[in-house]
Amino acid sequence: MSEKQTIVIFEAHSDDCVIGMGGTVIQNNNEYNFILVTMTKGETAYTKVEDKGKMTEIRKNESMAADEILGIHEHIFLDNPCQDMQNNLKNYHEVVKILRKYRPIRIYTHKSPSKHRDHRNTHDVVVEGWWKASENVLADYGKTYRCPELFCFEVTDLFEFPGYIVDISNVFEKKMSALDAFSSQFDVLPGLNKYVEGLAMVRGYMGGFNYGEAFIKSNFMAKPC
Ligand SMILES: [Zn+2]
Repeated sequence: MSEKQTIVIFEAHSDDCVIGMGGTVIQNNNEYNFILVTMTKGETAYTKVEDKGKMTEIRKNESMAADEILGIHEHIFLDNPCQDMQNNLKNYHEVVKILRKYRPIRIYTHKSPSKHRDHRNTHDVVVEGWWKASENVLADYGKTYRCPELFCFEVTDLFEFPGYIVDISNVFEKKMSALDAFSSQFDVLPGLNKYVEGLAMVRGYMGGFNYGEAFIKSNFMAKPC
C-alpha cells in the first residue's frame, strides 16, 4: 500500500484551521496526512483575570480534542507569543525546516491582507518560507523542496472573490463539533458558532451547496509550465 501524501497547514491560533478549513480537512483525512502547525501559544485569549497564565495549556488541550475530530495526523506548536507573531528569522527558518522535512504536496495558510497581525505575519512568513525552502541554501535544514502549491483560507477577514469553494455539506456538523472543542473562546468571540455557520452558508451558496469553505490559490511562487 502506498503511503499517504502530506499536506501542511500553518495557522496563527489554535482554532483558525477549524474555522477556515475544518470541513476540508475532515473530508480529505483518509487520503492525506494533515500536519497542523500552530504559530502562537494563545496566551492572551482570556476574559477572566484568574485565567491569565493558564490559556496556553487550556488551548493546547482544546486543540488536541479538535484534532481527534478533524483527523489531524500530527500537530506542531511553535509557541510564539500571541499578538506578537513575527515574520522574523526564527519563524522563517522554522517554516523552511518543516517544509523540507514533511515535503507536502500542498500548503494552506491565512490569507493576506488580514486585520490580525498574527494572521498577516503568519501568511507572510509562510509564503516566504515556501520560496526559501526551494532555494539551494541552508543545507543543514534538509534537502531543498519546492512545494507545488499554496492555498489561503479565510477566518474573520473575507475574500472578495474566492477562487475555489469546497462542498463541506456532508461534514458540516462534524466541523461544528470540532469548533465546540474550543470552549475557552466562547466568551472571547461571542456568536462565533453563528458566524461560522453563516459563512459556510454564504460560501455554500456561491458553490451551489448547502455549506462550503472558500480558498484562493497563491501566485507568490510562479508555477513552471
Ligand atoms: Zn486567529
